[in-house]
Amino acid sequence: MATHKVGGEVDAQCTRCKLTLAHTILAMVGTKIARVRCNTCGGDHAYRAAPGVTDRPSSSSSSSRASRASSSSAATTKAEKIIISFEEQLAGKDTANALKYSPKDTYQVDQVIQHPTFGTGFVTAVRGDKVDITFRTETKTLVHGRGGAPAEKPAFSPPNARATGPADKPLPPQASEPPADSSAGGEGAAPTEG
Ligand SMILES: [Zn+2]
Repeated sequence: MATHKVGGEVDAQCTRCKLTLAHTILAMVGTKIARVRCNTCGGDHAYRAAPGVTDRPSSSSSSSRASRASSSSAATTKAEKIIISFEEQLAGKDTANALKYSPKDTYQVDQVIQHPTFGTGFVTAVRGDKVDITFRTETKTLVHGRGGAPAEKPAFSPPNARATGPADKPLPPQASEPPADSSAGGEGAAPTEG
């Protein structure tokens, strides 16, 4: 851009031709081209940089681009650290004895869990029947300790007890027969009709 001088040529947007054309520089203000004459139509007008050939914006944006690149690389480094920390945490645990996740089992903090959907994770918190497990991509809250015997035992014995109970006692309904005895006695005591 320092090569521009009055009388030289420069590509510029011609206001009459509506095209990017070769122009002759008529006047300059410092290093900036101020006025040009179109080599095609011969008209002279204020200088307009050809689209995409802008000098000053490109030089300033290249410097900002450099600073942006350095800051983004720092952010990338941070993201990598997070991933590594999960791997490192998992590596410090007993992955060889990873347990297959089952809501019936009961887990403790730091236990390594193998989940069929979420993969390998480790227990970070236990809250009653809920357990927080950190997997590679996310932390999930899952249930545990649901394998208690009380849920199964009542399902078996009570039905058997009830099935035998009523069958042993078909008699109570016959207690309604005594009225038949009194009616029989009534027959004997009805001579008034004859
Ligand atoms: Zn022109």
